[in-house]
Amino acid sequence: MAEPQEQVCPVCSVKIIAAPGGDRVVFSSGPEGTRAKLWARVCQFANKPACINRDRDTIGTVTDKDYFKADPPGSK
Ligand SMILES: [Zn+2]
Repeated sequence: MAEPQEQVCPVCSVKIIAAPGGDRVVFSSGPEGTRAKLWARVCQFANKPACINRDRDTIGTVTDKDYFKADPPGSK
């Protein structure tokens, strides 16, 4: 079994783990997410060439849920 491939974005300092069915993104806090979520919350603001999460084909579709917003009351 191959080791999971991990990459750390040098700009955003976020770890991306290659996984079947979609890469997983490990944020410094909170639950794991997707590349789309990472882009919506971090990479689009960093906007640096060295960022490894800038390829829209790899990022996939960014939905409303991927953007940062306050948790609704009672969600914790
Ligand atoms: Zn990045």
